[in-house]
Amino acid sequence: MKIVVKVGTSTLAHSTGCINIRHVEELCKVLSDLKNAGHEIILVSSGAIGMGIGKLSLKEKPTDMPTKQAAAAVGQCELMYAYDKLFSEYNHTVAQILVTGLDLEDPTRYHNIKNTMNRLLELNVLPIINENDTVNTDEISVGDNDTLGAIIAVSMHADMLVLLSDIDGLYTADPHKDPSAKLIDTITEITPEIEALGGKSRSGLGTGGMATKLSAAKKCIARGTDVVIANGSAPAVLYDIVDGKKVGTKFVSKEEIEIIL
Ligand code: GLU
Repeated sequence: MKIVVKVGTSTLAHSTGCINIRHVEELCKVLSDLKNAGHEIILVSSGAIGMGIGKLSLKEKPTDMPTKQAAAAVGQCELMYAYDKLFSEYNHTVAQILVTGLDLEDPTRYHNIKNTMNRLLELNVLPIINENDTVNTDEISVGDNDTLGAIIAVSMHADMLVLLSDIDGLYTADPHKDPSAKLIDTITEITPEIEALGGKSRSGLGTGGMATKLSAAKKCIARGTDVVIANGSAPAVLYDIVDGKKVGTKFVSKEEIEIIL
């Protein structure tokens, strides 16, 4: 299978902005093992700004662009250093790809990014993608990595996009407020009712929320890529997800529904 895994800041870093060693170590171990089993993996990783905040000992998430960009420049190094070190332990080579919204809109640049990624996969390298936050401004950015993950998954014809976050999946109501909220395990169509469940929630140091995940899922399932939203606090769930077991919330793509029917 070709799998795009998007991992959010809430999984990679503690609320202090410092790296969550347990989560990151486990993620690298499981992804390495899935590669060993023959799967093609592309990682879309957030965490640059979050880890920059930690490394620079900033008290809170910056709101001004220069500090955000400075934090991203510092944090992206930290992030890639950790990935390079941990994946190397399992004999896997990583590559960093940083993109902006403009790169994805421009047909030549977009084509170049896809060519590079395909070549990296042929070379058995694990591409790790993030937005190039140091040159991004609000006008030219993709905005969040759920959307970036969906764009990459669709353009690379991935079988599956897994969105790892600090929540188990999509619930029938906000589980923080409503104790009767139930996890929805399978969704075959994103109706306005489902979309309404997305709300506008944002988590700690990250950027996305359920709304961006639902819109990412919508893009993917229309183009043949399944999407799973799962909790990143135990990356070993990726084994179950790949085995087709019920984990988190799965959005089944149109193509797969046709096969089932
Ligand atoms: N590119 C941002 C970062 O690395 C994250 C964006 C997101 O979390 O959606 O900090």
